[in-house]
Amino acid sequence: MELLQFTDKGIWCAAGDFYIDPWKPVKRAVITHAHSDHARPGNQHYLCQQSGIPLLQMRLGADIDVQGIPYGETIYLNGVKISLHPAGHMIGSAQVRVEHAGEVWVASGDYKLENDGICTPFEPVPCHTFITESTFGLPIYRWEPQQQLLARISNWIYENQQAGKTSVITAYSLGKAQRLLYYLKDKVPRIMAHGAISQVNELLIQQGYPLPSIERVTPETPKTALKNAVVIAPPSADDSTWMRRFTPFSLGVCSGWMQVRGHMRRRNADAGFALSDHADWNGLLDAVTATGASQVYVTHGFSSVFARYLTEKGIAATEVSTSYSDDDEEIIPNPET
Ligand SMILES: [Zn+2]
Ligand SMILES: [Zn+2]
Repeated sequence: MELLQFTDKGIWCAAGDFYIDPWKPVKRAVITHAHSDHARPGNQHYLCQQSGIPLLQMRLGADIDVQGIPYGETIYLNGVKISLHPAGHMIGSAQVRVEHAGEVWVASGDYKLENDGICTPFEPVPCHTFITESTFGLPIYRWEPQQQLLARISNWIYENQQAGKTSVITAYSLGKAQRLLYYLKDKVPRIMAHGAISQVNELLIQQGYPLPSIERVTPETPKTALKNAVVIAPPSADDSTWMRRFTPFSLGVCSGWMQVRGHMRRRNADAGFALSDHADWNGLLDAVTATGASQVYVTHGFSSVFARYLTEKGIAATEVSTSYSDDDEEIIPNPET
């Protein structure tokens, strides 16, 4: 029997009797990160990287039964050795290393290789079998170096200011918004945000992260406050009455999908910035190679293309279906607040 198996509830370790990022409620869940498709409600016990606990509680409720461990620390569940290692995707994101009877498996969750300055950078973990995501597993996805892309965002903001427009940037509230805030904190005079983003920001400032304090946009926010401001909003606020109050504004969308021009048109974006919290094509290949794994399972994304490519390169790769989403964005329940 394989050490980890793909079941209708999630990635299951029979020997240790736990699941990794289960999509149906189970007794014991090991969580790679707090994004809603990986961390779901209803499990009896949660285990995650310790800095991910406040985010997990924010998403799932303060009353969940959760245990946190630091990166690299080992614990045993029913005699199976488990440790968590940086995935570089967002704060608290971890790859799960599972070892039993001389066999090592690593489940990646979501990951990126570039150091974003906010979360602990990705570290490759040697293993026999690697379970990788493949959100951007097509050769067309190759990210521009982060500093270059962020500088383009700065220029775009400057141009909007010259034109008397508010710069509205959409970015995932958990992960990408923090990257932007961290970068923009000394560069723009006024940063404002949608409630979904300011809530996460306040929580992280309380935890000691070097993020700027930002103002939440409310119905009372005067029009004059918005002039020359940068407003960060979740992607689903796009085209809402919430967003129309910023007129005249220019809309910049931060997402790996912006690498493809058609996506930018579909989103009515004035500017698209392919800033992603996932690995690009080369990043995925580098990550897989660095593990030294001889067997790879490919989950959500362009899984068939990526698995086929790995197999052609001599690494036995199999596509598996999971309930994780292929998104680099998020849907929030109430974009109008
Ligand atoms: Zn994620
Ligand atoms: Zn994912």
